[in-house]
Order: sequence, then structure tokens, then C-alpha cells
Amino acid sequence: MIVRKSLSEVEIMARAGRVIARLHEVLREAVAPGVTTEELDQISARELRSANAIPSFKGYGGTPGRVPFPATLCTSVNEEIVHGIPSADVTLREGDLIKIDAGAIVDGYHADSAVTWIVGGDATVSEAVRDLVARTRSGLWAGLSKAAVGNRLGDVSAAVESHAAPHGYGVVREYVGHGIGRALHEDPHVPNYGRAGRGPRLVEGLVIAIEPMFNLGSHATQVQDDGWTVTTADGALSAHWEHTVAITADGPRVLTARSDEPEWPLRFPELIPTAGVAG
Ligand code: MG
Ligand code: MG
Repeated sequence: MIVRKSLSEVEIMARAGRVIARLHEVLREAVAPGVTTEELDQISARELRSANAIPSFKGYGGTPGRVPFPATLCTSVNEEIVHGIPSADVTLREGDLIKIDAGAIVDGYHADSAVTWIVGGDATVSEAVRDLVARTRSGLWAGLSKAAVGNRLGDVSAAVESHAAPHGYGVVREYVGHGIGRALHEDPHVPNYGRAGRGPRLVEGLVIAIEPMFNLGSHATQVQDDGWTVTTADGALSAHWEHTVAITADGPRVLTARSDEPEWPLRFPELIPTAGVAG
């Protein structure tokens, strides 16, 4: 069941989104060789507390055989795709890809956003790795730009996939974007692959998280023994970017946009992140 949000609910979600955007800006400054993922998690817990926000992920998804998620952030390094658990034993090294996924609840509503940073900067990795990261991000923005009234969900999915397919990246299939609101994961599923013109129509008040995960190898995934960490099955590197976007009468509104990104991508196309390299 798709739950549409009122204008006032979207405004609450925008506040949650700003908390997460700010958190990612703080974490971007903290990411460096020698920092542990547990330190990033501690920073996040403090930031959310001071913003009167509740972490979305902590305590999520306990099942028989799997502990509830134990941390504020998901931190996934290199071949880890998503849902990595922060640890004092994981120290970032130059040239690592650190994927940081963060969610927060403000006044009962979630926002969800993920980034991929190259530890030590772009010069520490090969062009192939830089391109993977940049094209995953441009795939996200292609999808966000299609999150408009009257389009179909398949238009979003196809736009995302179009930034992977020409380059032979594996597009993760088992994990997808999602509706979001009072629950972290609501209907509909938002796949990172699909056909334009298919799927449900996008309506005003629908809020979704779009989150491409592109691999430098196969799309196949594997869950590690901790019950959470998802890695590529072939050990290849993976990139992940995510924003929460509201479909409004005025166009897509990216609720988790950071200060260097457009909240209204259709109004400021020059600010939309591109792959930055020739295809
Ligand atoms: Mg997320
Ligand atoms: Mg998500």
C-alpha cells in the first residue's frame, strides 16, 4: 500500500532530511586514513542527539538468527555493498571506498541517505574506481530527476540503470530503494533497473528513497556471518548513493540534499552531479 504524505508531513520529513544532510557533511570532514568506522558512528550518535533526532537503523530488523542492527550508521567498505556494522576493528586506509548510510527520525518521520567517499581523495584510486563512484552518483541524480508527478516508477528505475548498463556494472537486484515516511521502508519498492513507462504512476505526496548500488563486477551479493553485512559475491568493489525525494506539485524535492546539491533538481540542472567523465 502506497502512503501519500500531506504537505505538512513532507515539511517534517524535510527537517529529518536536513539533519541527515548536515550529518553527512560532518562525516565527510571526519573520513580520513586512520579513522575507524566506530569513530564515525560515535560522531553520528552525538550529532543526531544534539539535533533531537533518533537513529533510524539502530534496533532495526531483529529476526530469529539475526540481532537487531546495533549501530547508528551502516558503514560498508570496498566490496561491502550495504549494511556494514561500524567497528573499532575497521580502520580506514587510503584508497578505500567508504559507504556511509544514515537515517534519522524527526517527529515520527524518517529520512534516509547514503554516500560513497574515497578515503584520501580521488587521486588514491584508479580511474575505473573513480568512474564507478561518479556514475553511481549520477545514476542517483538521473533517477531523482524523474521523480515527478505523472511519470511512472519505471522511468526512475530505467534512468538509474542507464548510468550503469553502458559501462558493464553489476546493478544490485536483491536490495532496492523504497517508499519512506512513518516507516523506514514503505511501499513501493524502487528497483535500480527496469523499463521506462512501466510500474505505478508517481503521485503528489509519494516520498521515496532512491539508492543505486553499482558493482565493478557481477550484481550477485552475499550476506556475511554477522547476518547484516552485504558484500559482492565476487569481491569486486561497490558504490552506493542514496537520497530521499518527495514527489511534489512543484517537481522532485530532494529532502536530504547537501549544501552543494540542488534541493530542486529540475530548477537547478546545472547543480546536478554528473559522472564528470566521458562515457
Ligand atoms: Mg539508506
Ligand atoms: Mg534506504
